[in-house]
Amino acid sequence: VSGGPREIRPRQIDSRSAALDADATDPLGGFPDRFVVADPSLCYLDGNSLGRLPRGAAERVADTITREWGGELVEAWEGWIDLPVRLGDRLATGVLGAPPGSTVVADSTSVNLYKLLGAALDARPDRHVLLVDDDNFPSDRYVAEGLARQRGLVVREVAVDPVSGMDPDMLEGALTDDVAVATFSHVSYRSAALVDLAGVNRRAERVGALVVWDLSHSAGAVPVDVMATATRLAVGCTYKYLCGGPGAPAFLYVDGALAGSLTPSLRGWWGQRDQFAMGAHYEPADGIARFLVGTPPVLALAAAEVGVDLVAEAGIGALRAKGMAVTSMIVGFADAHLASLGFTLASPRDPARRGAHVSLAHPEARRISTALRTRAGVVADFRAPDRLRLGPAPLSTRYAELWDGLERLQALVASGGHLDVDASARVS
Ligand SMILES: *Cc1c(COP(=O)(O)O)cnc(C)c1O
Repeated sequence: VSGGPREIRPRQIDSRSAALDADATDPLGGFPDRFVVADPSLCYLDGNSLGRLPRGAAERVADTITREWGGELVEAWEGWIDLPVRLGDRLATGVLGAPPGSTVVADSTSVNLYKLLGAALDARPDRHVLLVDDDNFPSDRYVAEGLARQRGLVVREVAVDPVSGMDPDMLEGALTDDVAVATFSHVSYRSAALVDLAGVNRRAERVGALVVWDLSHSAGAVPVDVMATATRLAVGCTYKYLCGGPGAPAFLYVDGALAGSLTPSLRGWWGQRDQFAMGAHYEPADGIARFLVGTPPVLALAAAEVGVDLVAEAGIGALRAKGMAVTSMIVGFADAHLASLGFTLASPRDPARRGAHVSLAHPEARRISTALRTRAGVVADFRAPDRLRLGPAPLSTRYAELWDGLERLQALVASGGHLDVDASARVS
């Protein structure tokens, strides 16, 4: 992860005019125009929570409703039936560095994690440990806990650094040959710390454990390259950097060599071989389709396809380069203007070691996040216990928009404009 040609140091953008220059030469500079911007004065720095609305999405969903559902009625299933696999292929080849036939889009990330963890546990019946880390997204940990309880397994938790994340060496002594399955996030939802996928996968392979990766904060922001990193099982979200819309169905990836030997414990007719034969007993479909369960949410898939297409068109290499540039801009600004206001960097300093957002710790982070929204026209978010998360999605954010957001943050906190905010207000 460190050293070598990957350690690109983007030039520092340290003024509004430098931000405007960066926009003028940005190879992705045309993409922000392809999103709906209802309020041009708003600085949207929460693309890692809910991606902006692509301009084409409303039209696409309207067409699916009016022409397909309204006009074609049940006949429209001919075009809809392979949507989960078709969109999965687009995501696999355009975003994840995976071959077609390896990915489907269905259900939520949590449900997909349940399906893959269950199938992987079934494939390691003589082992009794499910390995997690103490910094993973809560839902992932709850799913693991529930499965372990159902099956009488032990959850082993490895402690990782809340700022710098997991180093493969931290797994020494925890990732042992009694581990059936481990689950980790590639990019930490809180700190953005990036895990060495290939390094962890190598260790797991050595002890015969399977790893289910959560790519929610990587897909569309950081190259995953599942082939090169020997990633065998993964799930992830499509409403963050992939701009699929609120509650958009999630994805699920299984290495082709493994797909035929895993059987989902959550079984349904969409994963059945010869679905419309209506056979009395379950027989899994070949390959990845067996991980489908019930009827897919067609309207949500139609919307999600627009976002996935945009990300694939922009290209993950260009998105990664811009993600490093925008996060470096935040870190540089924080060093110069925010450290004296009580902020400390709570993400890795090396851009090669973090995803596309930055967390800043501040004792008043909750009030600051609320005041930014209600008083400064800046949307960031708060994550417990004291983190302000800034996620300027590289596909839809201009450098100048980020610069303005950072200046407003500085002005707000310097003036104490956050101090009388109700700290109990809900922040998403
Ligand atoms: C956003 C996110 C999820 C979302 O899970 P859902 O079941 O789709 O709500 C899961 N895991 C991680 C790491 C996330 O960041």
